[in-house]
Amino acid sequence: MRPYLLLTPGPLTTSETVKSAMMSDWCTWDEDYNIGIVEVIRKKLVEIASSKPEEYTAVLMQGSGSFCVEATLGTAVRPQDHLLVVANGAYGKRMGTIADYYHLNYDLMKFEETQAVVPAQVDDYLNQHPEVTHVSVVHCETTTGVLNPLAEIAAVVKKHHKVLIVDAMSSFGGVPIDMAALGIDFMISSANKCIQGVPGFGFILARRSLLEQCKGVARSLSLDLYDQWETMEKGHGKWRFTSPTHVVRAFMQALKELEEEGGVAARFARYSKNHQVLVEGMRSLGYRTLLPDADQSPVITSFYYPDAAFDFKAFYLKLKERGFVIYPGKISQADTFRIGNIGDVYPEDFERLIACIREVQSV
Ligand SMILES: *Cc1c(COP(=O)(O)O)cnc(C)c1O
Repeated sequence: MRPYLLLTPGPLTTSETVKSAMMSDWCTWDEDYNIGIVEVIRKKLVEIASSKPEEYTAVLMQGSGSFCVEATLGTAVRPQDHLLVVANGAYGKRMGTIADYYHLNYDLMKFEETQAVVPAQVDDYLNQHPEVTHVSVVHCETTTGVLNPLAEIAAVVKKHHKVLIVDAMSSFGGVPIDMAALGIDFMISSANKCIQGVPGFGFILARRSLLEQCKGVARSLSLDLYDQWETMEKGHGKWRFTSPTHVVRAFMQALKELEEEGGVAARFARYSKNHQVLVEGMRSLGYRTLLPDADQSPVITSFYYPDAAFDFKAFYLKLKERGFVIYPGKISQADTFRIGNIGDVYPEDFERLIACIREVQSV
């Protein structure tokens, strides 16, 4: 069931037990599914995300992560509101694209893709633009692997009393985040990233008191976050439209495995070790990382091509033959490729990867 390991930012390598959890059929209105699985997941997600679970609620939404980002912006930002999108990569820019589609009043604050967001610049902007009501930012920009300084950004946004929306797609579950401590109002992630489930749905963690005020704001039926939430609350785990039952069951197994591992702190430690073995090994082979270590997440790492003659496709295929699938780069300023550290992968896997890269280089 595992021809190769996916060293990618999701879908990623999942355990056999997560895949096996999809082997039975579930009825969407039966209590075994609603109460036994969906409600358990919602409760666990809130507990992982916040030290004050009573102030937060979780909504599961069909589709990939972007559907959930769109549902959040389309349901939380009203026509008369003003959104500041802070972007230093493709996923930040995508929030701007969503804002365009919804004709939201918004400003895009752009940073270089190779630079972390600078909280002081957000502060300056908010000082000069009191009309801003909401700020959205990506935590780990998977475009490069940069980890934005979320605590500092949140402190600035909260000082100005703005609603804070965080795309924590590729960090939630793998990097500790306490929504209550940071004052985050909406946070988005999906099944196939650091919780190590399979793709098919995403989820939104929301400050309950704010989501309660969002009735009738959405301009999309399928992506109405409020309506999805109300149906789940009142129906005790009922989804509005067909839910990806097998994927949801696999996700519950993945949450159990996260607990067994020791929770987010233990998973963060493993991903950090994966990253360390990878980077030390790659540097010993002469590769350079795109980002300075201070800005780098343990989630995914970008490496420069070693020289102008480097043939990524050939390199990719040789590694695939040896059991590892890596990822192309996504930025325009430099030729890079990426290697993910997340999923059911361990430091020993990265030791083997480095040995393979050494071998591939010498042929
Ligand atoms: C994966 C990811 C998304 C969502 O991408 P989809 O392809 O829609 O699942 C959004 N933001 C970030 C930072 C991501 O890593």
